[in-house]
Amino acid sequence: MLVEVAVAAAVRGTFTYRVPASLEPEVTLGRRVAVPFGRSPRATGYVLGFPESAPDGVALRDVAAVLDQFPLFTAPLVKLLRWAEDYYLVPPGELFRAALPPGLNARGGGEAPARRAVEFAAPCDGAAGALDGLGRAPAQRAVLEYLLARGRIPLEELRAALPKARPALTALVKRGLARVEAEAPAPAGAELPASAAAPALTPAQAAALAAVEEAAGAYTPFLLLGVTGSGKTEVYLQAIARARARGKGALVLVPEIGLTPQLAGRFRARFGADVAVLHSGLTPPERHAEWLRLRRGEARICVGVRSAIFAPVEDVGVIVVDEEHDGSFKQEDGPAYHARDLAVVRARLEQAVLLLGSATPSLETLENARRGRYRLLELPERVDGRPMPEVEVVDLSRRRGGGRGAARPELGLLSPRLAEMLRETLAAGQQSILFLNRRGYETLVVCEDCGREEQCERCSVSLTHHRRRNVLTCHYCGYSVPVTPECPACGGMRRGLGVGTEQVEAGVKALLPGARVERLDRDAVSGADDLASVLARFARRELDVLVGTQMVAKGHDFPGVTLVGVVLADTSLALPDFRARERTFQLLAQVAGRAGRGGEAGRVLVQTFHPEEPAIDCARTHDYARFAEGELAWRRQLAYPPHGRMMAVRVEGSEAGARRTAEALGQAARPALGRAMMLGPAPAALERLRGKSRWHLLFKAPDAASLRPVHRALARVAARPPGGAAVRFDMDPYSML
Ligand code: ADP
Ligand code: ZN
Repeated sequence: MLVEVAVAAAVRGTFTYRVPASLEPEVTLGRRVAVPFGRSPRATGYVLGFPESAPDGVALRDVAAVLDQFPLFTAPLVKLLRWAEDYYLVPPGELFRAALPPGLNARGGGEAPARRAVEFAAPCDGAAGALDGLGRAPAQRAVLEYLLARGRIPLEELRAALPKARPALTALVKRGLARVEAEAPAPAGAELPASAAAPALTPAQAAALAAVEEAAGAYTPFLLLGVTGSGKTEVYLQAIARARARGKGALVLVPEIGLTPQLAGRFRARFGADVAVLHSGLTPPERHAEWLRLRRGEARICVGVRSAIFAPVEDVGVIVVDEEHDGSFKQEDGPAYHARDLAVVRARLEQAVLLLGSATPSLETLENARRGRYRLLELPERVDGRPMPEVEVVDLSRRRGGGRGAARPELGLLSPRLAEMLRETLAAGQQSILFLNRRGYETLVVCEDCGREEQCERCSVSLTHHRRRNVLTCHYCGYSVPVTPECPACGGMRRGLGVGTEQVEAGVKALLPGARVERLDRDAVSGADDLASVLARFARRELDVLVGTQMVAKGHDFPGVTLVGVVLADTSLALPDFRARERTFQLLAQVAGRAGRGGEAGRVLVQTFHPEEPAIDCARTHDYARFAEGELAWRRQLAYPPHGRMMAVRVEGSEAGARRTAEALGQAARPALGRAMMLGPAPAALERLRGKSRWHLLFKAPDAASLRPVHRALARVAARPPGGAAVRFDMDPYSML
């Protein structure tokens, strides 16, 4: 017997091995094996298939051992991973490894899974009255009669009694005449805040759920567009409850930072032990244990971050991607994949319903909805009918706005208006959040008078300041100009603004000496525990002001917060990234969603040098549609996604080596470009990281297929880079740093 194996190494492609007769029964699809590879006698491999014949002229070697007692990957997962390996141009072994929980990777093998939870079928109340109406559906009638006679029975028993029971039962469930339940979930823990009872849906929610229900059983992607607080999560919960009643499993992907105890708690409160949670805050043994519960079928609902797209849930009926626009769904290190995009592929493989939820969908997803590939469901209002918070914009440029608190330099970037609002909020006994998307490695070069920052005319992304050479550089194409002290637009003084959360924290303390202020960023909190404890103190109202980065922007629900201040919106606008405007709009919308979750109305203040920027002006009026319209038009003009595809090629090595490799890649790409266009090679925005020099090349093309010839030409160079640097391919790149 022959077996096709992906080896856990940085190589593309798969390898064929012989299976010794003694191992044959154990070598099954999705298990790990030990195989000789190169000079290693026992490399880990993943069993992907059983070819009839071996490639010519290859001396076959034997599988050395089988590492697992059961397959770690189900057949649909193997298909999903193979699709991903091919599309993302990554080594398959690395991808299969990334799909497993880290605890399992370290161990020798997994223990055998126990039988999965028993499922029961039962008639619904009042079903007896519907028997006569089933005259034309004899199979359904037989099943319902059986259930009415026997009550709640294990599904196995029903199947044994009536061989064709399953489709009939599914039809009965759809008609609301029968239900299917997994072994009763454990009662919700006493510490869970949410009430487990499902509320009656609003008309908009009910319409969305009905559309999802109607689609059940076939691949159907939906975009669920609804502002924060419009009840999206409740729609997910009820759609999952229906799927579970049909015996189907569910996958819920949430952003890294969105997987708060609150959200996990809501799922646990509704579904109890049927929920397994997978995220990086768990210890490896905890993660392994949760993974095993899913693999064994003891839990059929997985709530997790990015890598949970590979969770071993069988027979998935619903896949939810909450905050689908969030950047954390893109894996940046190791095998670069996008979990939201893989969710589309997995939903197709599993014939599942896909719910992509967001208040500010990515333009890729919006465009798919506009072209009719996804069905659009809207929740236009907040559940409680509360209005969206009022957003006020303060112009920081001296010429138009009057600038910052010049009289009190210790207040830093806090404008007189922001200072006033902070004081008022504290005096009213309410809480404030101050948000700053700080970039630790860069200062922002702006004109103090007019606020102008420079953009590359070819690429339309912000130029980045380099202190060492004192130039402004485009990190897409390499264009570069010296920095002059005067603003080329108005003649005013340009300044490098160094801003960070620490300075803001100091400013708040100077302004409000009695207030309880805490900072939340990667420097201030180190682990998930720290983060949770600061958030818990804030939730208990033991803190008045929370100053932080992205970490404060998402997912949390603090009823006491009535003021959200964005200290400097321009930091994210200035990112050298074609998505800078989109990300800024999304961030502002998220942040604004934090205000006024309780009884009091919320206020949002945004400070900026660019009040006229659509990303800021549309956030002020909560106008996603207008923002998206303008942004899509601009993307079309410059052929950026969703109008076309991109591929990034990242190079890392010594200073001379990275440059040489990048230049060689550029030369190799040129004759292969076809319909693709090349930007660069250019130094990456993070030019040095962990002692390595970084370069990149960007390719734009009308479709993914047009990037293939470029990849083929570059792969030859990447295999033997002349400068000895490491080369990584990144399809549909997200971070441009
Ligand atoms: P989103 O996910 O869109 O932010 P949620 O589903 O979290 O919205 O709903 C916001 C709040 O409203 C939550 O506290 C939730 O419990 C509550 N809620 C949602 N739907 C309903 C409903 N139909 N009736 C009453 N309360 C609801
Ligand atoms: Zn450029």
